[in-house]
Amino acid sequence: MTRTNLQIDRIEGDVMSVNSYVVHGPTGIVVIDGQLTISDADKVRAAVDATCAPLVGVLVTHAHPDHYAGLAQLLGGADVPIVATEHVTAAIRRDDEVKNGIVGPMMGAEWPAQRIFPNRTPDAGSTIELGGVEFRVIELGPGESPADTIWLVDDTTVFAGDVAYHDAHSYLADGHADEWLANLSRLEAELAPDAMLYVGHGEPAGKQLLASQRAYVEAFIAAIDEYADVDDDTRQAGVVARMVQQLPSDRLRFLMELSVAPFAASRSKLRQ
Ligand SMILES: [Zn+2]
Repeated sequence: MTRTNLQIDRIEGDVMSVNSYVVHGPTGIVVIDGQLTISDADKVRAAVDATCAPLVGVLVTHAHPDHYAGLAQLLGGADVPIVATEHVTAAIRRDDEVKNGIVGPMMGAEWPAQRIFPNRTPDAGSTIELGGVEFRVIELGPGESPADTIWLVDDTTVFAGDVAYHDAHSYLADGHADEWLANLSRLEAELAPDAMLYVGHGEPAGKQLLASQRAYVEAFIAAIDEYADVDDDTRQAGVVARMVQQLPSDRLRFLMELSVAPFAASRSKLRQ
């Protein structure tokens, strides 16, 4: 299959560096992922409004608030399909109250008090038509989040969510690193060699992102294990130093920093 000639705009949040994609379908606009904050959701909405075409639906790649919390603000009451698999939807619904308690205070007035959830849940592997574009969903299961999916327009146009980050630190607090590595192996085998990954964080890029994400996750596991038998402050400092060596960037560094303690706790439970 040849690469789509659809126009796809990347809208990156300013409060948090997370992408929404605005897909210009023949009969309407489809947005991939819904931002974390009020003003970043407004930024995506402004990009949609600037197209002068109707917004006909939203796809949600996975169960993390930086990809769904802004949806109510973005949609402003518009009654359109918000599409995610049953597993993604269930994880969002299950965890939203906890995220409200943790992320809400971090974001203050930028945190959307009103949050809405997916209202259409196609089966894994199925195809849904929105705006005259066919989107096929592949369910990966737990990985970066408790429920990851990717959405394909064709063999080479892949909305990859957070299965791979691009030049940014990663969130590993959910503790599914082994499953994440398995998901990366699966996609290395299954995706076309010239696939373009429209990732949740950073610029779209090719399949090489899968290998660099693998190296990052493996380095994080190794660092956590290296600092298994030390006090919490020593571990935090040691792992963060290792990961900044691995990826010399401050982009989304806070996500990695937030992951050290919960990941170490889940690894020590595994060892017992
Ligand atoms: Zn994310």
